[in-house]
Parts: sequence; C-alpha cells; structure tokens
Amino acid sequence: MIAERKVLKVHYGLSDIVLSKLEGYDSINYKVCSPTNSFVLKVYPFSDELFALLEGEEKVLTKLRKANGIEVPFTILNSNGTPYTIIDNSLYRLLPFLEGKFISEVEHSTEILESFGKALALMDKSLLGLYDAALHGKEIQWDLKYFKKNKRFLEEIDNPMDRSLVHYFFLHFDENIYPIQDTFRKSIIHNDANDWNVLTQNGRVSGIIDFGDMCSSWLINELAVGLTYMLMGKEEPLKVAAVIIQTYHSYYPLLVHEIDALYYLIAARLSTSVCNSAHAKKQKPNSEYITISEKPAWDLLRKWIQINPILAKDTLRAACSFEKTQKQDLEKQLVQRKRNFSGALSMSYSHPIQMSRSAFQYMYDTNGNTFLDAYNNIMQVGHCHPKVVEAGQRTLARLNTNTRYLYDEFLSYSEKLLAKLPPSLNKVFFVNSGSAATDLAIRMAKAHTKKKKIMVLEHGYHGNTQNGIDISHYKYNHKGGSGKANNIVEAPLPKVFESGFKNENDAAAHFVKETFSRITENEGEIAAFIAEPIVGCGGQVPLPRNYLNKIYPKIRAQGGICISDEVQVGFGRLGAFFWGYEMYDVVPDMVILGKPMGNGHPIGAVVTTTEISDSFDNGMEFFSSFGGNPVSCAIGEAVLDVIETENLQEQARLVGKYLKDELKTLVKNYQEVADVRGEGLFLGVELLDQHRAPGTKLANILKNRLRDNHILVSTDGPYDNVLKIKPPLYFNRQNVNQLINEMDLILGETLKI
Ligand code: PMP
Repeated sequence: MIAERKVLKVHYGLSDIVLSKLEGYDSINYKVCSPTNSFVLKVYPFSDELFALLEGEEKVLTKLRKANGIEVPFTILNSNGTPYTIIDNSLYRLLPFLEGKFISEVEHSTEILESFGKALALMDKSLLGLYDAALHGKEIQWDLKYFKKNKRFLEEIDNPMDRSLVHYFFLHFDENIYPIQDTFRKSIIHNDANDWNVLTQNGRVSGIIDFGDMCSSWLINELAVGLTYMLMGKEEPLKVAAVIIQTYHSYYPLLVHEIDALYYLIAARLSTSVCNSAHAKKQKPNSEYITISEKPAWDLLRKWIQINPILAKDTLRAACSFEKTQKQDLEKQLVQRKRNFSGALSMSYSHPIQMSRSAFQYMYDTNGNTFLDAYNNIMQVGHCHPKVVEAGQRTLARLNTNTRYLYDEFLSYSEKLLAKLPPSLNKVFFVNSGSAATDLAIRMAKAHTKKKKIMVLEHGYHGNTQNGIDISHYKYNHKGGSGKANNIVEAPLPKVFESGFKNENDAAAHFVKETFSRITENEGEIAAFIAEPIVGCGGQVPLPRNYLNKIYPKIRAQGGICISDEVQVGFGRLGAFFWGYEMYDVVPDMVILGKPMGNGHPIGAVVTTTEISDSFDNGMEFFSSFGGNPVSCAIGEAVLDVIETENLQEQARLVGKYLKDELKTLVKNYQEVADVRGEGLFLGVELLDQHRAPGTKLANILKNRLRDNHILVSTDGPYDNVLKIKPPLYFNRQNVNQLINEMDLILGETLKI
C-alpha cells in the first residue's frame, strides 16, 4: 500500500491515515481514515475505455446534485483540481465515505420501503434526458438488456435442477421481454441499488453509492434491480414490491407494460446474480462469502417460480392504480366449449380451471392462482422444462420430416431409448400416442403369433382406438361400453387390498390360479397378455409380487407374447425402477410407451424383440407420418437426458418414500383413509366409508377441496374412490408437506374428528 499512501499524501494532502482494504469488483478499494474524515480510495488499471466511463460517471454525479435529499459520493478533486490521478497506468479516485446504515442492516418498515421507492424515482428523474456516449456503448452482463450474456455461466451452476430453474427464466425472457424491448423507455440508470449500496439515516434512505455498474439501459431495470434485493428474505415479496413501486410511480410515473415486465426482469436479475456467483465460485472454490451471499437469491428464485406471473402483474398494476389484466369470461368459454365439442370430453373439477401457463410442478391459471400439480404424470420432468422446450424449438426451426429419410435425431434417440431396455427388447416403432402404441402392439402380437385372442386384466386401460377400447375392460365394461368382444379373455384384477387374503403371497397364489384356469380354457389361442405393472384406472393397484412371473411363462407356453403397458408408470417414476415390469423380475416381449416419453409432446412407442419385429416385416410397410420425426425424437431424447442429468429417478424414490410415509400417517389418523399403495411417485390412496364401502363421496370432496386450495389431484378406480397422486418428478418435500397438510385439514373438517 506504499503507492496508495504516496498518492494520498502528494495529491490529496492526506498523511496521517489508516488504510484498510474493502470488497471491490473492477477496482481495488480502500477505506481511508484520517483523524477528521473517512474516504474510499479506488484504484483502477488505466484504459481509455475506463477513462471515458468515469467521465460519464462524473456527468451523472453532477446531475445528481439536483436529486433532492439523496447523498451520492462526489469525487474529491486532487491538488491539480481534477477528479483522477493517473500514475504508472493506475487511475486513482478518492470518494467521501458516506455516513449511514446500509438498508440491509435496518428493519424494512413501510417508511423505509417508501423512501427507497422515492429515492430511486428521484434519482432516475434527475437523470432524465442525460446522454453519454461511453455509458451508451457499455455492454455488461449486469445490464438486464444484456441478460443473455449470462447464459454462458449456466453450466457452472452445480445442481442441475437449480440450473434448469434459471434456464427456465432465460427462455421466458426470450418469450416475454425481448420481443417488446423497443417499447421500454431508455435512460442512464444506477443499475445496482442493491441493499449494500443504499444508505439510510433516521428511518429513511439517505444515500446511494457505487456507480460502477451504471449504464444506459431500460429505465424499468432500475426498479427491477432495486426490488430484487429488497424482496429477498421476505415472506410476501409482492406486497413489499407493491409499496416500493407505488411510491416510485407517484414521483416518476411508470408505464403499464413496464410494470408488467417486472416479474421477468426481477427473475432475470436473480438469475444474473446466481449465474455470476456460480462463475465466481469456479474461480474461487473456497469462498464462503460467495456461498453465503447467493443463498437469498436462490431462496427468492425458488419462491418466485411459485408466483403466478399474472398475480405479479395484477398486484403491481393495482399498486399504481392501473386496471388489472383482462381475463376470458368463464361462462362464455364454457358455452363455446359446449358449442364446439362433444359432451364426451369431460372436464376436471366442479369449478373448471382456466389455465394460462405452467412451470415444473406448478400451474398458473388466468386469475393469478398457482396450483401445485400433484397428478400429471405426463409432465415427467416438469411442465415446460427448458431443456425439453429448447430441444423442440431448436429442431422445429431446423428440420421436420419423416422416417423415410436419414437424420441424426431418429438414430440417436433410438440408441438412448434402447439402452434403457434389456437387450432382448431391441426394435423400436415410434408413434404419436399411447393409444397408437397399443393399437400397433396388438397388431404385431397377432401377426407374430397368428392368434386372435388377447388376455387383459379387469379394470385395465390401454387406449382410445378401437383396438384400445376392445382390450380396455375399464372402457368396454363401463358406462357406454358395448361389453367384452369375443376375442377378449379377462383375468381378474389381482388386487391384494380387501381381497381377504392374509398376505401378498396368498393373494398372488389365488389370482395366479384363477388366471391359469382362464388361460387353460383358451389354451393355444391367446396372442398376447397385456397388463399395466400398476393398474392406473383400476385404482393405482400394484400387482402382487409372484404374479407376473407365473403368468408370463404360462402365456408363452401356449404360444402368446407378454406385453407390459408402461404408458403410465415408465421413465423412472417408480424411483427404484425405471420400468414397471422390473418390479416383478420379469422381462416382457413388448413394451408400450407414451405419456411421459415426450413430457407432453405427443410421442408413443412400441419396443419389442427382433423375432416379433421380423414377423411384422411381412411386406406391408409400416409408416407413421409423425412417429419418429426429428422434433419428437429430439424432445424424447431431451426427456431422457433430463431424467438422467437431474437424477429424477432418485428424486422420485426419495420424495416418493417421504410422501408414502406421510400418507400412511393419514391412514393411521383417519379410518376412512383405508390404503396407501404404489411405488415412487405413483401412489394411490383408497378411501372407504365407515361401513367399508367405497368412499366415493369423500374422494370427490377431497379432490375438489384440494383444487379449491390450489392442489391438483384426481380420482380413479371402479368406484372412483382412489386418489391418484403422480406428480411431475420435480415434486419436493415442501410440496409433500403442503399436500399432506391440506389433506389433513380437509379430512379433519369433513370427518369432524
Ligand atoms: N395405456 C395406459 C395405461 C394409459 O393410462 C393410457 C392413457 N391414459 C394409454 C395407454 C393411452 O395413451 P394416450 O392417451 O396417449 O393415447
């Protein structure tokens, strides 16, 4: 510090001083204490660019003399009367050390929040119309206008689920902000009103320091940055934001679309912060300072994703007395739906939900509510997972064609998918739905075995095509169904719960015997036995162990093949198993895949053996216009990648176990909660009434009241008395607690214990 001391003595007349180092970003900073005053000395490596930017900063500071009541650190002139001292390629600047407590150190009373809004507004207002070429041309990743620059740090975020959360906000910046960027007002802004740059005295904001991130940006970014830090650690961040914005708006009116942008701009600032922390951590792996300082940003980001963007817009609009966002009229939509669609299409819940968007395990309606999705197993890796979305967008923009050409996606996806299956299942046929896969599976089974009969489980469901309905007892045997077709052989649903058997083994032995006798009755005529590993529509019923391992050989012995319908349970949802059949130590001859395969994009597949596929190759071409197209394959591959990189199968196992254990406490506490069953994040809760009859009414109450409390589950089973819980695999322990607390409350109230 000899050089610094010399500069201070020679150029600023300060000799009797104490020098100590401060945190600094692009300059080396020292606190300078003389017997009478305190200062900050900034030392920068000299460059023309820096010089031009500092000139800009001087211009701004001069302007801010007029910002009434807010102190800023005016540069102290040296003995030559200039604000900079340049020696040996170093540039020195001396600033006063402003008095006051940082806003991070005081309680955030309404007065403080209001004065923060006022301070930002007055500062921005006094910079109105100021132009500076150097600041105008400045490009830093901390300027939200250049948010995308931070994407290069994304891979440096260690936790892959956290990384995807940030990635989500990058994509939504593209969707919601970039297209309207030209409509934002531009201004020179401070751009870093974080809680360690804002000073307070006597319960109000008194000063702002550190103009190093200043730039010419969108005016609204000033508020976005300032809000970001003020919202950290707050129970209800939107309420805090509303107070600040209301005051800002009263001093410097905002435009409605600037207010609307704040949700994504705040998310962008949080993302910028965690991206840069991740990068800095890679540079300085042992810095505790970085780890501690990034925590509040992560906490807020995780909270932010649970806020419906419409709620954010409406709350902030209301704070500035703007009208709320326009909503579609529910009654009108219902009339329209009735006019254009058949009544055969049902809708969930007594009060229909008007959906607007979704993210991971959350869904947002048009009224500003956020729903916790606890039952959509199609969204395996979470709603709108950015990697899946990006894979779709990228490929859709490049090439979409069919399997009569050669392209990488088809081959690469097939390799990855087949690698997840045993070696015997080595031929894949891509289609567009679980139903199309079922249909094809039945055709192939018949072609291979030259037999016609199909053995199905009672209450099973396999698809909506004619073939699908014909083999779905759940459909042909229920309302509107035309009964069992002649070629269908039914096996009883091997359900252990309430079966009267002592244990799973006894139940298995009974059902095996029953099924054997039906096979014997049709000996030599059964082309295929098809079953779901956990029977979904039957009420989330797992098969007893020692069932399939007896049935499969028997079916094969009479010349049939065994099909596992993995549409509901496949792709890691079961936690301990990637595929459902693995639960029972069997290997099928064919699997049917769908739902989670494309995370909402319509893909299905049949995977089978070489022998069966060869029998199907009989001269008639198999062609699907869309099955196996590059876009679908890219999406399917992205889903597999995400499951793997984000360890979602393990997440399903851990969270599934926790959820099952918590549900079991409800079984203990409420007689009506009769059974909890399933694996991983594929669970069913069977409800019975006090007479052990199906608790259909209670199931319906629970489903609808949970919906009213913003949690989505559904019911199933022959009596519709089984709650099905099979959430996106992003579901976490906090989500489990929310679900269990609500269920407990509703059960307590309904059953009046
Ligand atoms: N098999 C099972 C087990 C299913 O649950 C479903 C759909 N619910 C299907 C097949 C049919 O799939 P999709 O709706 O994609 O046609």
